[in-house]
Amino acid sequence: MPAQEGVAGGRLSYSRTFARRNSLAPSAVLSFMRVFASPVGSGSLWFDNLATADQVPVAYDPQARAFLPMPPFCRNRTIIGCNWVAPEEGAFCRSCAMTALAPDTSIPNAIPNWAKTEAAKRWVLDNLGRWHWFRPEDPGARPVFHMLAEGATPVPMGHVAGVVTISVAEADPVLRVTRREALEEPYRTMIGHMRHEIAHMLWWRLSLREDFIAAFRSTFGDERADYAASLQRHYSEGPPAGWESSYLTSYASAHPHEDWAETAAHMLHLIDITDSFAAAGLSAPNFPPPGWDPYSEPDAFRLVDVAANLVAGINHVNRSMGLSDVYPFVLSNVALHKLAFVHDWLRRGAQGL
Ligand SMILES: [Zn+2]
Ligand SMILES: [Zn+2]
Repeated sequence: MPAQEGVAGGRLSYSRTFARRNSLAPSAVLSFMRVFASPVGSGSLWFDNLATADQVPVAYDPQARAFLPMPPFCRNRTIIGCNWVAPEEGAFCRSCAMTALAPDTSIPNAIPNWAKTEAAKRWVLDNLGRWHWFRPEDPGARPVFHMLAEGATPVPMGHVAGVVTISVAEADPVLRVTRREALEEPYRTMIGHMRHEIAHMLWWRLSLREDFIAAFRSTFGDERADYAASLQRHYSEGPPAGWESSYLTSYASAHPHEDWAETAAHMLHLIDITDSFAAAGLSAPNFPPPGWDPYSEPDAFRLVDVAANLVAGINHVNRSMGLSDVYPFVLSNVALHKLAFVHDWLRRGAQGL
């Protein structure tokens, strides 16, 4: 079971702003966002909108996957801008209810960083809900989040037995880029942290099934290998030569648990890029016809093929603005089969299938 993997542990980053967006105009925001109909009047809403263009307060219902006017709002709405519905007035929404520890607000920027962190969490939870994870129809445990601000010492992120610890300080772009550069990572976002750490929790959920572990070990190796020693070796010696042919990232080579978390995070990246592309009404050569739902696609190889074509094009678009590639990774054949394994289990795992 992975313990805290250290600030150096995994990965990924996040730069979505928390600002309101009420139109489709800025193309730069299309890659992560889904568009919803306004429940009051015309116009569109983005996933994290708190109000319509006419300033009518609205909230997002993750069960209906739609916006509602004037529902019971989440208790965290005023403090961190959570726009999800609550079961009743004064209660937390489904996402905020999973946060057992909120950051120490006496630490500078704790609240704005926490707000961005919870926004990333809501997005990732909503994605996973497409496969029924953590919705009412999922009979299993929900993740428990410890959202910690950083004082003088860094907060290691990690997962232990259903508890996910996140450093909200990584919502700060300067800190995040500094760490990304120090660790020589091609990509580091808060959405990526969420996907990676929740992926550890999903592994723990799946490991409670008898049929999962043997299948996992035959694909990813034996996760009973000493975790602390493996990470220490990774940080002192670096990844093995030729890691690119078997792993999506160098960090994935550190231990089977990290390989799973990185691979699962990448499956979620690729499906979300594809889903967001379709939701924005964009088209591309060989893209499936309108109405295709990437989350319902049973063929992981087809899904990854569609996604790989998209990211090649979007990387090219990003370079036109001097931006980083949206997906700066190469998919080896071995990694492709690991992605398919993750896809199969995540698609049916929440329903016990
Ligand atoms: Zn909330
Ligand atoms: Zn990890």
